[in-house]
Amino acid sequence: MGVFEPFSPSDEWEAAAVHWHAYAETTAKGARPRTADRIARRDEAPDAVLRSPVEVARWIEQQTRVHVSHREVYAIHSREWVSMGDEEDLAHLRRENVLIASRGDSIYTDIFSESDRHDLYVEAVTNEQCTHGCATDQSQ
Ligand SMILES: [Zn+2]
Repeated sequence: MGVFEPFSPSDEWEAAAVHWHAYAETTAKGARPRTADRIARRDEAPDAVLRSPVEVARWIEQQTRVHVSHREVYAIHSREWVSMGDEEDLAHLRRENVLIASRGDSIYTDIFSESDRHDLYVEAVTNEQCTHGCATDQSQ
């Protein structure tokens, strides 16, 4: 039995009319990530286009499962190290990310392993900010 966690996603993301461009990068430890610059990153085609807070949370979880066995993830929004690896941790992370994304926010997370790091960037963008034609894709 877990502790009850209030779970009430916002609908701000709908009012803001955002979608998310997701980028996953692996770099050797100490190296500068290819798209560390937010402006440069925006010009690159995203690895995934996410349409809802639930899709955002699922994508991050998928990436986390690929890279994490028993490692630590720095959750930037809560400014703390979170030990990852069991289903409860992943479920907690998923709820956190749904809540963050439901406010129309971007999410940046790093996953560290022994030899490299995995940066996940999920950028909230409006259709005006989007340079990849996602809005057009959606209507097809
Ligand atoms: Zn887009």
